[in-house]
Amino acid sequence: MSEPQDVMDKLVSLCKRRGYIFQSSEIYGGTGSVWDYGPLGVELKRNVKEAWWTSMVHMRDDVEGLDASILMHPRVWEASGHVAGFSDPLIECKSCRRRFRADLPEVQERQCPVCGTRDAFGEARQFNLMFKTFMGPVEDTSAVIYLRPETAQGSYVNFLNIQQSARQKVPFGIAQIGKAFRNEITPGNFIFRTREFEQMELQFFVKPGSDDEWFEQWKAARMEWHLANGIRKEKLRFHEHGPDELAHYAKKAFDIEYEYPFGWKEFEGIHNRTDFDLSRHQEYSGKRLEYIDPSTNERFIPYVVETAVGVDRTMLVALIDGYREETVEGEERVVLGLIPKLAPIKVAVFPLVKKDGLPERAEKLHASLRRAAVNSFYDDAGSIGRRYRRQDEAGTPWCVTVDGQTSVDGSVTIRDRDTLVQVRVAEDRVLGWVKERLL
Ligand code: ATP
Repeated sequence: MSEPQDVMDKLVSLCKRRGYIFQSSEIYGGTGSVWDYGPLGVELKRNVKEAWWTSMVHMRDDVEGLDASILMHPRVWEASGHVAGFSDPLIECKSCRRRFRADLPEVQERQCPVCGTRDAFGEARQFNLMFKTFMGPVEDTSAVIYLRPETAQGSYVNFLNIQQSARQKVPFGIAQIGKAFRNEITPGNFIFRTREFEQMELQFFVKPGSDDEWFEQWKAARMEWHLANGIRKEKLRFHEHGPDELAHYAKKAFDIEYEYPFGWKEFEGIHNRTDFDLSRHQEYSGKRLEYIDPSTNERFIPYVVETAVGVDRTMLVALIDGYREETVEGEERVVLGLIPKLAPIKVAVFPLVKKDGLPERAEKLHASLRRAAVNSFYDDAGSIGRRYRRQDEAGTPWCVTVDGQTSVDGSVTIRDRDTLVQVRVAEDRVLGWVKERLL
């Protein structure tokens, strides 16, 4: 297997070649740390979000969905603490003027990691990560507005709207998937840390006193979810935040970490945010945000257990974890071992040769799969071996081949990407066969 940096380079080029991920505004030389998702990338992204939404919202009675706006009242970010405290320590190299996050291990040695100057840095200063812009036609301070750096605040300010309209009782949660923006000082590692990204966040409101128990439940549930996405167990671990790592709002926090080619780093954050956010919004808005327990008439501000994971980061982990190079039947191949639920293309349909009516028959099968909303791909170009390799690299779990035998008994072969085992299945059974395995 290749060196870690090699793996990242190979993945970046595979993602471009196969239409997963392109650099943003590439023809202009690219924009720093933002990426565009191509035909396969957008499918993977949708599948990641669908998997999260299904498990967090559709399979539960105690979680409601929300899609809050990106632009919010500027007071929200004062109440949340982001205006005062959502910053990273920034240092600048005296020689090359490049800027870095002061807490990066690479700059702890006081040597510039880019130009190599020793004793390169002065005092660190705090740099706020929120993107600022103006709302309306007048650019004055009263019109300043921020692009949200997290989706969570939209859930807090809508806490009572949702609790009352959905007639939920505490404990219950609000789930959101949406874009977030952070003017990161040191973005990088492909889509690991970008300035525009998407989050999948759950805010789960509980009675104070039951928060520790709920925290444990969500911690376990989130780990289960990653395992169900096929991520290797030995590549995942929990990391508890020590007192100096804890965010200002958190009583307790665990990260789920993944072992990326560039080391163990955060994948998802699970936080006990106490009643910090709702209390602050109550204070800053002057509106009561208490919950009244209908059975006891007790009033309290709920505690919040939050689970927060990036869509892009989930994609990166799925791509890295699934990537493998191997030799089969004497030939090298690259495989993206995505689980079928996440794979962008579910089935590829090939005629073995371009004659004897096989292409027409294969196209008909392909069209019937598409009509049934199974993302199928038709390919008749090149040798069958090359067509298999292209699909292995794209992460397609099954390849269906229409061959001479099909004209005799109506059966086709289905080849499994991982085991390479081929089974013969009746043409009209292919849809059912695939659907059974997608469930
Ligand atoms: P860090 O300390 O590494 O900057 P964080 O602890 O501030 O990250 P959270 O605020 O907990 O991150 O964000 C929740 C999740 O959102 C992260 O676990 C990650 O999956 C995703 N995320 C956060 N920042 C980014 C980013 N800049 N690019 C891509 N995904 C991100």
